[in-house]
Amino acid sequence: MKEIHLYNTLTKKVELFVPKTEGKVGMYTCGPTVYHFAHIGNLRSYIMEDVLEKTFRYAGYDVKRVMNITDVGHLSSDADSGEDKMLLGAKREKKTVMEIAEFYRKAFFSDCEKLRIKMPDVVEPATSCIPEFIHMIEVLLEKGYAYVAGGNVYFDTSKLENYYVLSNQKEEELMVGAREDVEEDANKRNKTDFVLWFTKSKFDAQELKWESPWGTGYPGWHIECSAISIKHLGENLDIHCGGIDNVFPHHTNEIAQSEAYLGHKWCNYWFHILHLNDSTGKMSKSKGDFLTVSLLEEKGYSPLVYRMFCLQSHYRKPLVFNYEVLDNVKTAYEKVVNRIHNLNKEGETEQEKMQPYRDAFMEALGNDINTSQALTVVYDVLKAELNDASKWALINEFDSVLSLDLTKETDAVEEDDELTAFVEAKIEERKAAKKAKDFAKADAIRDELLEKGIELKDTREGTVWQRV
Ligand code: AMP
Ligand code: ZN
Repeated sequence: MKEIHLYNTLTKKVELFVPKTEGKVGMYTCGPTVYHFAHIGNLRSYIMEDVLEKTFRYAGYDVKRVMNITDVGHLSSDADSGEDKMLLGAKREKKTVMEIAEFYRKAFFSDCEKLRIKMPDVVEPATSCIPEFIHMIEVLLEKGYAYVAGGNVYFDTSKLENYYVLSNQKEEELMVGAREDVEEDANKRNKTDFVLWFTKSKFDAQELKWESPWGTGYPGWHIECSAISIKHLGENLDIHCGGIDNVFPHHTNEIAQSEAYLGHKWCNYWFHILHLNDSTGKMSKSKGDFLTVSLLEEKGYSPLVYRMFCLQSHYRKPLVFNYEVLDNVKTAYEKVVNRIHNLNKEGETEQEKMQPYRDAFMEALGNDINTSQALTVVYDVLKAELNDASKWALINEFDSVLSLDLTKETDAVEEDDELTAFVEAKIEERKAAKKAKDFAKADAIRDELLEKGIELKDTREGTVWQRV
């Protein structure tokens, strides 16, 4: 087993990852709320979690990864207020909640496939675990961690010594999911208490309801991840993942109820991905138009170009989406795939000479999933004094984690150094013409290249070109 160091939100430190059982990793990921298409921000989280899972596997671990599908209980505010997201989706599309869930679950996994995100070992919809939720809530009531008020069952956060174990921020700063226009729930004993089970539905049209000891109703959002994780991964979870907005209240509440239920510490490592933002701020589905994988495809970007865009930056840094940068990544991606395609993969590999590159790749990923460094190792291999067969074999191996289809058979064209030199000289000539304000000449150069099947694009990082 190779060493992996990860930033742990629980301890706020980069730590050596040590699972409970040697050689095995239990990994839980919060799944999508299937009321709409996933935006590319959501998918940034799933891409980076996929890299994490594949890093564990590359390092020699046996991984069991579990993901829920939220098809009930997630209200438009992450704190229990606003409307039910699934109901909003059903109303919007004049369909039933289960039709909406089925459609967007499939759409989510289709996006994942395009982005080469591996299907988790277990995918469990919340609606198929109602007995498990009810059992967990019964135990929480028995142990005095929960109370019934106004027909709903609430978790009593005042019963815990350290409710904010996952975050040392102030309460107000943490209320990221809460909207200002929603009224306070008068049944709550403490502001941070949260609903485990709703019986008094605020929504007349609530379609999905189940019998429970507290009346007909439906579960709160947070209970599903605790119960599904414990069902499939047991009482000790190695690592739990999600986007940074999940730290509070969702993951904070998951810890509260899981540890109150189990009577001991539950999860050792918490892995959170910072958001993908657009130029106006956080990406959000409530803003109306939002960026999806299909939209990128319509604009001519392969989903793997977006995957590479994500891998070029660190998961713990916010990332701003930008078409100019995506254009550059597209050019870089096509170039690197072409170079790999032109390697002659037949012949003996030079195992001894290959090892330092393997070590460098593992070291990059083992250093808190430094994906941009791992990509650099691919370029280092291409430049290395190794035969083609060794280069191809190494990159093929690295692609088990990067999943960029780097060694897939393509109809890539021979790299043409002469053409590259010609186009680059023309770009320089055009730059000089523009500087001299000779725009007619600059345009003429662009047209001349276009006639030869070369399109120029001006980006903030300079002019890039592609074959059309
Ligand atoms: P949801 O479908 O809303 O439950 O979100 C699915 C996942 O996407 C969760 O792990 C969120 O934390 C994550 N997420 C939401 N917005 C973003 C964003 N802009 N960038 C990255 N991850 C996000
Ligand atoms: Zn969750």
